[in-house]
Amino acid sequence: MSSIPISLLGLEDDSATECLVADDYQKKEGKWCSGCGDFGALNAVKRLLAKEQLKPEKIAFVSGIGCSSRFPHYVNSYGFHGIHGRALPIATGLKLARPDLDVFVVTGDGDCTSIGAGHWIHATRYNTNMTVLLLDNNIYGLTKNQTSPTTPMGHSSMTSPRGTVLPPLDPLQATLGITNASFVAQTADWVPAHLYATLEAAYHHKGFSFVRILQRCPKFTADVFLENVKDPNLTELLVHKEGVNAPGLDKLFTNQRTHDPKDLDEARLLAARTDKLRLGIFFKDGSRPVYDEIRAVPPVSPEEKVSKLEKEFDRYAV
Ligand code: SF4
Repeated sequence: MSSIPISLLGLEDDSATECLVADDYQKKEGKWCSGCGDFGALNAVKRLLAKEQLKPEKIAFVSGIGCSSRFPHYVNSYGFHGIHGRALPIATGLKLARPDLDVFVVTGDGDCTSIGAGHWIHATRYNTNMTVLLLDNNIYGLTKNQTSPTTPMGHSSMTSPRGTVLPPLDPLQATLGITNASFVAQTADWVPAHLYATLEAAYHHKGFSFVRILQRCPKFTADVFLENVKDPNLTELLVHKEGVNAPGLDKLFTNQRTHDPKDLDEARLLAARTDKLRLGIFFKDGSRPVYDEIRAVPPVSPEEKVSKLEKEFDRYAV
């Protein structure tokens, strides 16, 4: 990627820019249905990029396939709209090749927890330094309403017209069970202050930051989060000095639980409970091994790479 001129990627060299605002990071208007939770996630991301004053040419957004995976088209940065389920290995390769880039992955429940599930497990274990947004709307939206692994039991869809019969896969429990998981959080598109603060914490975590964003899909799963949107008492906020702290949240959510994000056992217990929806950082451990730091690969210059390639090609020359 480094050899492609910035101008060809539609990026501006902003070295002369003094201050970037959120809208500077919007490449074009998001094409999602009206009321889609993906808009909220995009807004939070733009705010974060502006707050951190990240240069567009130093950011990369990688996605798979799905409604939320259109994200890279809308962010003024490098972008890679990948193939179904493969966002995480693409992002891992990118981060290893270009450690100077801030890498963000945007994936959906169908993309990450189904076809991409194997990559999800190993990317979590590798703990490469990147921020992962799992936009979980509990359905395959782009392909028009098929049951995904996180679809609630009983929910009717094109593929389960009489309602799904299996209990849904819980991305938090699954990630918390993977060796070397280092950051696991849950937030919701309808609580912008919490969403923003969670992404900010995830961005500053060293390692693989996994953020499940509960995302409304008014088109196909309008009922799924409706009660929680209407009644904040159905939600419990996880609070701690090491957790997510944003102004106004304590007034909005009277149900609060002090949870130390270092406590993995309690994180697993809380993720397994279904009595309330929980928002916050479930687990965070910045001391876990980070693959980009521990892999022992001696640096190879571009000239050496070209010379090795030429030598290899010469073997086949007549
Ligand atoms: Fe958003 Fe659902 Fe429409 Fe997809 S189908 S753009 S997830 S509202």
